[in-house]
Amino acid sequence: MPHTVHMTMGQQEGRRSWAEPWKIKMVEPIRMISREERAAALAAGGYNTFLLRSEDVYIDLLTDSGTSAMSDRQWAGLMLGDEAYAGSRNFYHLEEAVQSYYGYKHLIPTHQGRGAEHLISQALIRPGTYIPGNMYFTTTRLHQELAGGTFVDVIIDEAHDPASQHPFKGNVDLDKLQALIDKVGADNIPYVSLAGTVNMAGGQPVSMANVKALRQLCDRYGIPIYLDATRMAENVYFIQEREEGYQHTPIAAILREFCDYTDGAWMSSKKDHLVNIGGWLAVNDPLVAEKARNMVVVYEGLHTYGGMAGRDMEALAIGIGESLQDDHMRARVGQVRYLGQLLMDWGIPIVQPVGGHAIFLDAKKIYEHLPQDLFPAQTLAAAIYLDSGVRTMERGIVSAGRDPETGDHRHPKLELVRVTIPRRVYTQAHMDVVAESIKAVYDERKSAMGLKMVYEPAYLRFFQARFEPIG
Ligand SMILES: *Cc1c(COP(=O)(O)O)cnc(C)c1O
Repeated sequence: MPHTVHMTMGQQEGRRSWAEPWKIKMVEPIRMISREERAAALAAGGYNTFLLRSEDVYIDLLTDSGTSAMSDRQWAGLMLGDEAYAGSRNFYHLEEAVQSYYGYKHLIPTHQGRGAEHLISQALIRPGTYIPGNMYFTTTRLHQELAGGTFVDVIIDEAHDPASQHPFKGNVDLDKLQALIDKVGADNIPYVSLAGTVNMAGGQPVSMANVKALRQLCDRYGIPIYLDATRMAENVYFIQEREEGYQHTPIAAILREFCDYTDGAWMSSKKDHLVNIGGWLAVNDPLVAEKARNMVVVYEGLHTYGGMAGRDMEALAIGIGESLQDDHMRARVGQVRYLGQLLMDWGIPIVQPVGGHAIFLDAKKIYEHLPQDLFPAQTLAAAIYLDSGVRTMERGIVSAGRDPETGDHRHPKLELVRVTIPRRVYTQAHMDVVAESIKAVYDERKSAMGLKMVYEPAYLRFFQARFEPIG
């Protein structure tokens, strides 16, 4: 597919660098502990970066979830928290922000994204039905399975190929979706689960043309589309940059158009929205809203706070607006690309094109000699921590878990380490240190021996599994 990179709005205004549209007002000290201390911390944490103490981490690139720096306006918003149990003023601010930026009619706040995934899955999925989606996400698929559904991957093949340069590797393959409809019948498909950007594929976007075509196909069969909007701000930035006709459209307007093709969305505000906690479900169908509102009081809290404090909702309402400013997103993606370019210049295999929130190291390629059952990505994440105290995470066989039918490991095509960049937190010099450490580990790749799993939890095992080195 031909792909031209168009000038973004910022470039047209004559600004050449992706420099951040903010300056730093408050700092938080960090330090690197010694190599012996890092080795001890790694062993104590079972070679799982989720089990390290934050104090033992130098640069924390585990996740972009809840790790953003808030603005002075958001911090000021915390002081305006209306902590009334019911009908908090901050809820109405949040509702207005979601309605105006995303366009959905009914808002149900939740404590974070998976709370909303729980509500939508329970509200829509009948046992024995199928939920097609553009690649799985860990918590999303689990909630679909717990509701009795079966997730079916209908993403385009390019998404599973780390080297493919397709500009919209998050796209749904409409032929795969049609084949599923023909096989199981539209009545057995409660909704299409669409995510933008696609986390597990490397932060890859969905095009406007794709969601438009998806809407047409789904309309023919009366199948609703629900959106995982967790990183849609990044998705619409890529549309502005890459898709014909959007170069002069602000990302906020692109978002509204995209959401208008869907019936509702769930959101982990801990990502795009520049807050440390929060999420929501937003839908157009009043009956779905009513079901979700009935359930939210059981699992989260009253429907005007859903597990968040009033102050959290205020910071979130402000963060939504900040997250959808063009210059913010340009700096955000610019920083991720800066790190990616350093690694590519050194010939280190990463998922391309570089996505919105992270660099994904291709552990299968880096540790060619390690079979997937020796957990190459888990091994690589541990090696990077040992080298420099930089924390990353596994996105491969451990994250994929076991097939609920057979009980065997799922063997995903992608065996990756995610190097995730928190928003507005680290500087370009931090990215240089990270790149140098990854290079040092890459240079030693032949000596890696792999890991064996010695403890495996029942659900979402990547969070708490423990490992021991082989050899
Ligand atoms: C993080 C995430 C979720 C779940 O949200 P939480 O806030 O972590 O509960 C769902 N979907 C995607 C794509 C995510 O990245």
